[in-house]
Order: sequence, then structure tokens, then C-alpha cells
Amino acid sequence: MISVQQAEELILSQIQDFGTEEVRYTDALGRVLAEDILADRDLPPFERPTVDGIAIRFSGYEKGLHTFKISGVQSAGEASIEVNSDHDCIEIMTGAALHNSLNCVIRYEDISIENGVATININPKKGQNIHLKGKDKKADDVLVTANQVITPAIIGIAASVGKTNLLVKKLPKIIVISTGDEMVSPDVIPSDFQLRQSNGITIKSVLQKYQIKADLLHLKDDYDLIKKELTRCLSQYDVLLMSGGVSMGKFDFLPQVCEELGVEKLFHKIKQRPGKPFWFGKNEAQKLVFAFPGNPVSVFMCLHRYFVPWLKNCLGFESNTPLNAVLDSDLNFEPPLQYFAQVKLQVNSSGQLLAKVIDTNGSGDFSHLAETNAFIELPLEKTHFAKGEVYKVWPYNL
Ligand code: AMP
Ligand code: MG
Repeated sequence: MISVQQAEELILSQIQDFGTEEVRYTDALGRVLAEDILADRDLPPFERPTVDGIAIRFSGYEKGLHTFKISGVQSAGEASIEVNSDHDCIEIMTGAALHNSLNCVIRYEDISIENGVATININPKKGQNIHLKGKDKKADDVLVTANQVITPAIIGIAASVGKTNLLVKKLPKIIVISTGDEMVSPDVIPSDFQLRQSNGITIKSVLQKYQIKADLLHLKDDYDLIKKELTRCLSQYDVLLMSGGVSMGKFDFLPQVCEELGVEKLFHKIKQRPGKPFWFGKNEAQKLVFAFPGNPVSVFMCLHRYFVPWLKNCLGFESNTPLNAVLDSDLNFEPPLQYFAQVKLQVNSSGQLLAKVIDTNGSGDFSHLAETNAFIELPLEKTHFAKGEVYKVWPYNL
């Protein structure tokens, strides 16, 4: 049996690059950006009044002029109007492109207009109320750097610079396979000795958060059927995410079938609770098999502790460091296993991240997964964990 640390290292030694592809910016939310987004021109692209009012030549005001003849009106989107006389002004609207013959904009609130003449009621400053061309960014400046998850803000910036196709990281092709004769579809009423399948859809839903559309399959504990289906899946997918059938039971066929199909075991069993019987392997074509034990909490923990960091590394996520939180109460755990306790993370009034441990009944008890939001990782070497100590946490539901 290996340690959590060793399992993590083995999994992270299997980082793969799935390449890049172009997608429309409208389909890019949640994908990982694989290129920098640059300004296609200066931002703003022209001198831009920030208020509605009049634009004057400041040299006129410096000569003592307070009234200006209105020689035109320019709305946003119209070509710039040039003004050649210090005695003239134009009315101009927010967002219009100010002509370089003008260098001072005065709000309607600060002027009065009568018979086509504007009188200013304040002492304006040169350049006031003008957002200068290129003040925010220059043409070719980087607006968004690669290797980050595409957010609504990034899509808005892409649209602003005309980047309607974005280069993003390709996602692995994944099939989620659950097993078990006792598991029936959630659509049917189980008999007294059956349970409803939930692992498959749970895993698929976590993948959906990363924009991966995984296929789903449930297999009976039938050796030949499992062998036939795994052969097909290994040829069609990059990654097989499985649940169930990896423990010591008489019908836990997955480890044996995988090895028969040439999937080399990289480890089986980790000194941890939940999730001890986790099996991980790869074949010659670098197809990876993450075979989690069937209990829903084990699946959830292994997925967030091992698979998600692997995926983030493959996709080149920029920030990938685990969070730490402060244990909110004492806790004892005697078995020689690294314990992952379900906690509710909360920020206290001094801005500290607190982990409140929620009592549960082991890996078969999935009833608390919705009211908790992380696993806290308690080191193997210790049996007593005191309130106030700081440990790694692996968030979900956040
Ligand atoms: P196994 O690892 O195959 O021995 O499964 C252990 C237990 O996990 C089963 O007895 C079920 O209670 C649960 N389990 C297995 N597969 C699923 C599934 N697809 N959905 C929900 N629970 C499952
Ligand atoms: Mg089973």
C-alpha cells in the first residue's frame, strides 16, 4: 500500500498535453485559454469625452473667452468634427471621438446655452473630462494572459478586441463507467436489496464544471462483459473513470481485467480513508484508468484529491496550489491511514478560513455531501488533531 503523497506523485507523473483547438468566443466560457489576448488597437482607440457637454479649444479659455459659438453637434459613432476657431465649440456626447483640434470638455451641468452660444460657468482645466487614447492599453499590449479559465470578463474583453475565435486547451475524451449488479437506474424503484446508481452522474457532473462532456456507462459485474467493454473504451477514450469493483470482493473484477488488457497497474490501494482500494493504471497508448472504489464518498474524495489536480495540470491551470484551512474542533483518528474528513469551510470575521468537521458514518454515508464543501487532509503520522491546527483542504461544492 502506498501513501497519499506517493499516489499523488504517480498520478502527477502522468500529465498529458491534449493539444489546443479554436472555439467561438461564445462557446469558450469555462475553457482554458491557450493564447494571450492582445489589444488590436490603443484602448481607448480615440480621445473619448467622459461626459455629455461641449468641447472647446483650451487656448480660447486661456485668452479669457467664456462664451463659445456652437458650430456643430457630434454624437458617439460619428466622425470627429474639427474646430478651427478659439471662439467656437461643438456639443459632443460621451463616447464620441474627439477631434485633436479640441482639448477640453465641459459638462452640460456647467454651462448655459442661449441662441446657439454656450457660456461656461466654471473654471475648466486643460484636458478635463477626456479619456485619452491609449491610456488603458497600447495596441499589442497583453490584455489577458494564457493558461487561465475563461470567465465572462475575459469573453467581454475578447469581444472588445474582435477576437471571436479563441485558442483553448483541448479536453481529454472521458468515459465514466460504474459497475455493480446491485445498482439500478435512478429512474426505477429499487428492490429491497438494490441501490440506485449515483456515482456515474456525480463524476459526469464534476467533469461538466470543466466543460468536459463525458459519456456514461454502467456495467454488471460480469467478467466477459467488462472485458469486452473496457477493450472498446480503451480504444475510444483518453481516460476511463471508473467506480466500484476494485476491492477484495468475489465480483471485483476490474484490476484483473485491466491488467489482462495491458493496462499496467501503477498502484492499487492507498493508505487513506475513504478510498483505500483506489486502482490506477495506464496502457501502452498512454490511456489512463482511474478506478475508484464504489462508495460515493470514496469516489468524491478520490476525484477531487487526485483526478481534478491531474486534469488542472494537464490543462495548464496557472494557479493550482491547495488551500489550507484552520481546524475548528479537536478530532481523533487512530487507524494508520491518512484521513480525509468532510468539513464545512467558512471564513471567520478575521478573514481566516475555518474547517468545521461534520460527523459522518464512513464512506458509504453520502448523506452529508451536500451540506459540506471540502475534505480536510489529516496527516498519517498523527492520531490527534487539535483545534487551531492548519491542514490542506480539497474543496467541492464551492
Ligand atoms: P464496490 O466498490 O463495488 O464494492 O462498491 C461498494 C459500494 O459502493 C456498493 O455496495 C454501493 O453501496 C456503492 N456503489 C457502488 N457503485 C455505485 C454507484 N454507481 N452509485 C452509487 N453507489 C455505488
Ligand atoms: Mg461492486
